[in-house]
Amino acid sequence: QSERVGFIGLGNMGSRMANNLIKAGYEVIVHDFNHSAMKLFSDRGILTKDSPFEIAEISDVVITMLPSSSNVLDVYSGPNGLLRTGNVLRPWLFVDSSTIDPQTSRSISVAVSNCLLKDKKDNRETPVMLDAPVSGGVLAAESGTLTFMVGGLEEAYLAAKSLFLSMGKNTIYCGGAGNGSAAKICNNLALAVSMLGVSEGFALGQSLGISATTLTKIFNSSSARCWSSDSYNPVPGVMEGVPSARNYDGGFASKLMAKDLNLATTSAKKVGVKCPLTSHAEQIFMELCNQGHGTKDFSCIFRHFYSGMDE
Ligand code: NAD
Repeated sequence: QSERVGFIGLGNMGSRMANNLIKAGYEVIVHDFNHSAMKLFSDRGILTKDSPFEIAEISDVVITMLPSSSNVLDVYSGPNGLLRTGNVLRPWLFVDSSTIDPQTSRSISVAVSNCLLKDKKDNRETPVMLDAPVSGGVLAAESGTLTFMVGGLEEAYLAAKSLFLSMGKNTIYCGGAGNGSAAKICNNLALAVSMLGVSEGFALGQSLGISATTLTKIFNSSSARCWSSDSYNPVPGVMEGVPSARNYDGGFASKLMAKDLNLATTSAKKVGVKCPLTSHAEQIFMELCNQGHGTKDFSCIFRHFYSGMDE
């Protein structure tokens, strides 16, 4: 691969995504403000840089995988950020795969498109930004089977597709800037609410004398069937290989779900849309985090909120 890819944010997801780019043959340069995260790469001979600015100076494409909107803003617009050079940039493409709010994605996309390219790319004079959050957790990041939901210019999406497919197995074009972020937070709010509904159904069902296994059979052959009931059941003992079967370890942390619900409620307020179930789900997941379960998989809501069977 002839393109040089700068990768910023080498955490649980980013380190694995960067590894898959390296495996696919891209020349990858990395940055993280956590030096031990960078050391895992420099020990293997991968070039590291001390700031996003230095990454932008030598990359054709820059990918960010950071916790939250404020981190992404720092990396783009901070004093040593990607856009520090003023308005003439080397990278023709910026991809942000962090889960953040669509309004922030849109404002960064505008800032990027207001810059000029050092060297024209396919007759384009300005760089482009795509918001491309992912679904699938750490395991999908590791095995290169993530799904990317992408917002931004369609021609840039098409040009970047092979890059996405080096880290994932599916890409879905969602429309203009910010639409990838919008898709991601809407998916996660629907997931949170369905997990709460399924957990509530199981808690009541068990108290009324129906076993979780029987109720699962009913749900999965009836209209309550959903991913939370048939693929990620929250009740211990019902399914194997899911977080509920291993004390809710691994999986998708409750604190990340609480963060994503907050993105959804904040975005909903900004556009004046009522989302009462999202707000309630946010409160419930916040409470779960405050009780010390923030790092457990979000399906632990069943044990800690509904069934009263605390550890
Ligand atoms: P993480 O906390 O493990 O990693 C984030 C990395 O970014 C860390 O290494 C941190 O040091 C680095 N970082 C933060 N601010 C920085 C800055 N200003 N400059 C340089 N480096 C900085 O998070 P993660 O689990 O990899 O998640 C990343 C994003 O992906 C989040 O938005 C999350 O919601 C989303 N996501 C996570 C999962 C999952 O299962 N973990 C699944 C889908 C999406």
